[in-house]
Amino acid sequence: MTKLGRELASKGINIISLSVGEPDFNTPDHVKNAAKQALDENYTRYSPVPGYPDLRQAIVNKLKTENNLDYDISQIVVSTGAKQSLSNVILTLIDPEDEVIIPTPYWVSYSEMVTLAEGKSVFIDTDIESDFKITPAQLEAAITPKSKLFMFSSPCNPTGSVYSKEELAALVAVFEKHPNIYILSDEIYEHINFVDKHESIAQFNSIKDRVIIVNGFSKAFAMTGWRLGYIAANKEIAAANDKLQGQTTSGTCSIAQRAGIVAYEQGLASVLEMKEAFLRRRELVYNLLNEIPGVKTNLPDGAFYFFPEISSFFGKKDADGNVIKDSSDLALYLLNVGHVATVGGDSFGNNNYIRLSYAASDESLVEALRRIKEALGKLA
Ligand code: PMP
Repeated sequence: MTKLGRELASKGINIISLSVGEPDFNTPDHVKNAAKQALDENYTRYSPVPGYPDLRQAIVNKLKTENNLDYDISQIVVSTGAKQSLSNVILTLIDPEDEVIIPTPYWVSYSEMVTLAEGKSVFIDTDIESDFKITPAQLEAAITPKSKLFMFSSPCNPTGSVYSKEELAALVAVFEKHPNIYILSDEIYEHINFVDKHESIAQFNSIKDRVIIVNGFSKAFAMTGWRLGYIAANKEIAAANDKLQGQTTSGTCSIAQRAGIVAYEQGLASVLEMKEAFLRRRELVYNLLNEIPGVKTNLPDGAFYFFPEISSFFGKKDADGNVIKDSSDLALYLLNVGHVATVGGDSFGNNNYIRLSYAASDESLVEALRRIKEALGKLA
């Protein structure tokens, strides 16, 4: 959708993009300055495969001070974005036919990575009524002798849902009964969380050794292009990821790593500023979505997405008589007629929804929602 939107924009059409998953802020100055300094200090050579030791130490310190989790630097592997971290974990853990349990909706690449590893994705469906969160009973029912990994994000892309400590504890009680299952906890949206503090499933000691935390700098520090992510895991998994990465990309960009150290050492002031803007926009979009007949939404607790239900438009026709059959059709219609780029929920495993990112200025959000309302009003 982003690509299609850009194509239309290149023809001179004013497209508002609510389809991309990245903060619309610039990387904070102190982080950019650290990168400039790294260049001047000639951090331009190959770095150690799992990352510079002082970056890994800064990550260990962050996990202790922000999350109260104890790790050693031998348990940290830094990669070329959280995306490579996820891919490393799946490629090292998953053998052909292994089952990976994934609640839907999920971030698009999860199931594709499982397929690349010749594993099998087993989906647990959720909906807006359950705030897109699974129950322990659903988890239990999805487990088979072939289950190897459970993977999820909280705060979630695409729904913004956040699991509370109690909800995580209830899932942990299930994992305690199944000691062969690993848990991949994607915490990339950790800092864009509008409820209490971030809760990691790694805080439960009974399963901590089986939890692989994936996190990174893209969302918290508006550093999507820098490609800097990491895992925190048990030593065997960390060593396996290190070994795999040694034969693929080697250590990630030396300059980005030096900047990452400063991002973590200098604290969260810039993150909090960004979060305040996201909170304001969340209210704005929530109110505007609620004014659109046929659209059902919840108030997401984190990330910067809405995932409203739009199935009431299926079966309706546009001005040319084309029938809207699914969420992709609706997203395409909104792009072509409303000139707003969104993403159909089918990309995330739930067809009855679309994803809107509110990482855009207040003015574009107001205009985008006006266009969406108008375009949807024309469907008959
Ligand atoms: N996990 C989720 C849930 C994401 O939304 C994204 C980015 N859209 C990533 C991982 C990958 O982040 P990175 O930029 O660090 O590769």
